[in-house]
Amino acid sequence: MNEKRNRKAIVIPDFLTVRELADLMEASPIQVIKELMNNGILANINQQIDYETAAIVAEEMGFETRPEAPPAIVEEIPMIPQPLKERMYEGEAPEDLEPRPPVVTILGHVDHGKTTLLDVIRHTNVVAGEAGGITQHIGAYQVEHDGKKITFLDTPGHEAFTAMRARGAQGADIAILVVAADDGVMPQTQEAIDHARAARVPIVVALNKIDKANANPERVKQQLADVGLQIEEWGGQTICVPVSAKQKIGMDDLLDNILAVAELAELKANPHRSAMGTVIEGELDKSRGPTATLLVQNGTLRLGDALLIEDISGRIKAMFNERGERVREATPSTPVVVLGLSDIPHPGDSFQVVEDERIARAMAARRADEKERMAIQPTRVLSLEGILDQIRAGQVKELNLILKADVRGTIEPIVNSLQKLGDKDLKVNILHQGTGNIGESDVMLAVASRAIVIGFNVTVDPAASRTAEAEGVDIRLYDIIYKLIDDVEKALKGLLEPVYKEVVSGHAEVRAIFNIPRVGKIAGVYVTDGHITRNSLARIRRNDQLIYEGRVSSLKRFTEDVKEIREGFECGLGLEGFRDFEEGHIIEFYHKERELG
Ligand code: GDP
Repeated sequence: MNEKRNRKAIVIPDFLTVRELADLMEASPIQVIKELMNNGILANINQQIDYETAAIVAEEMGFETRPEAPPAIVEEIPMIPQPLKERMYEGEAPEDLEPRPPVVTILGHVDHGKTTLLDVIRHTNVVAGEAGGITQHIGAYQVEHDGKKITFLDTPGHEAFTAMRARGAQGADIAILVVAADDGVMPQTQEAIDHARAARVPIVVALNKIDKANANPERVKQQLADVGLQIEEWGGQTICVPVSAKQKIGMDDLLDNILAVAELAELKANPHRSAMGTVIEGELDKSRGPTATLLVQNGTLRLGDALLIEDISGRIKAMFNERGERVREATPSTPVVVLGLSDIPHPGDSFQVVEDERIARAMAARRADEKERMAIQPTRVLSLEGILDQIRAGQVKELNLILKADVRGTIEPIVNSLQKLGDKDLKVNILHQGTGNIGESDVMLAVASRAIVIGFNVTVDPAASRTAEAEGVDIRLYDIIYKLIDDVEKALKGLLEPVYKEVVSGHAEVRAIFNIPRVGKIAGVYVTDGHITRNSLARIRRNDQLIYEGRVSSLKRFTEDVKEIREGFECGLGLEGFRDFEEGHIIEFYHKERELG
């Protein structure tokens, strides 16, 4: 009895790691892990546990527990929108802005030498005085040239570049387009150009493999001109540097030109504020917990800073550069690896530093709730009609399209007709055109640039189709040119009627009926095939007669609300405005999908 009075009290936050709980109790983490195991929970030292779990363990280990009071200010903190690059530096006083190194990405066709180029630059231009350090792959690195720094993103290719943009971030300031002088402009060269242009990122061409006997730089320059990249030598704007990554020819020239383009762009940031930027990579390190490579784009990131990354929170417990050395701070355009996050973030997520860890945690929790709520709503469709609404509201002045057709010959007439449709207030902007099926890269470009994908006599790759569905991208397929043009024209005039088709997702059989006070009649059902989701539509037929058509109003498993129930499981089901369940009723579940084309 006395024991209780003598118990030491500890204050436990909503979430904490096993190690943090052990620290609070001045106990060994092993002891905590054992106690968790006694309660049926397997956890490692860096794992997050919630208050309830921590309290049980602490009480069993002889402590009295109290929850940490929620921070009073949480309600007043607005959701900070994704700091898009254009917005990243908004509102900074000009006197606070200082030049920052350019962030460079490498794009180009497969085998044209992107990886070789990245490796050569990395190994021959390590930051002065630091040569010999072992560089690790962290997703980005910095080199020094002429006393100036340049940051390279070292996952080459427009897929990574656009995937990042699709999440609302834009890391790169300049794109190096690698084109092999013996091979010329290839399909992915064209894609890379379109992706860089859609992102409005300046392109520097590295005309690679000039050491090869069959290199034909003049032919490549002509091909570049044909796809609209006029190089300087021919009176255009694009810098083209002949190089050989393999023989390390032209590297200085290439870096000189990157610095020149960077200078022209007047890249600046405010190092005197709290940091924000983009996640380059995230992974789980077995011994160190979740880690992430962050690219600081504005402000200065410091050890101990509280971080908010989407719905993940944390506090920087340690920070490393690409040579694995501990650093205490990171200024704009610097990539660093950080430890101390509650979970693994995605590449392209934006991060920001907030006042303290409790605020970060509260905001992360709120965002997680928000995400949950969004997930049960029908997918937001980046549809032709949706974009038209935005155009009407004056938010958008261009209709961005991505066009894929089966053969070259049909692209030109389609493009010509489409381009005639716009007027001075509303431009039809074809971001990318090409032959072949609609692939994931097309869909990602559509997400990143808020575009519609149009296919003519082509199909959609399964992966692209999944991404389009998840991201809500509108793909419209046609096999008659005039129908395609007609639809876009109607859309521009706001006349397009969306066409929906029904997709049946599953069936369930009523096995029991319950009357729940204040809620009404709930059926206990068994899912015989497919699945039911909380936003499913439902209908019941008896002897071919429709007796109900409406929405699912509640879906519960035991007492828990759930989002989805699969075949072979039982659940409690409520239907909007329906009370007349009978045992043996077969309920059909379906949803409406937009008809393509
Ligand atoms: P990526 O697919 O664009 O990343 O291309 P890689 O960097 O993997 O290069 C593809 C191949 O081209 C490799 O065998 C390289 O050794 C070779 N390569 C890259 N750059 C050059 C170059 O400047 N000259 C020659 N001759 N070969 C090169």
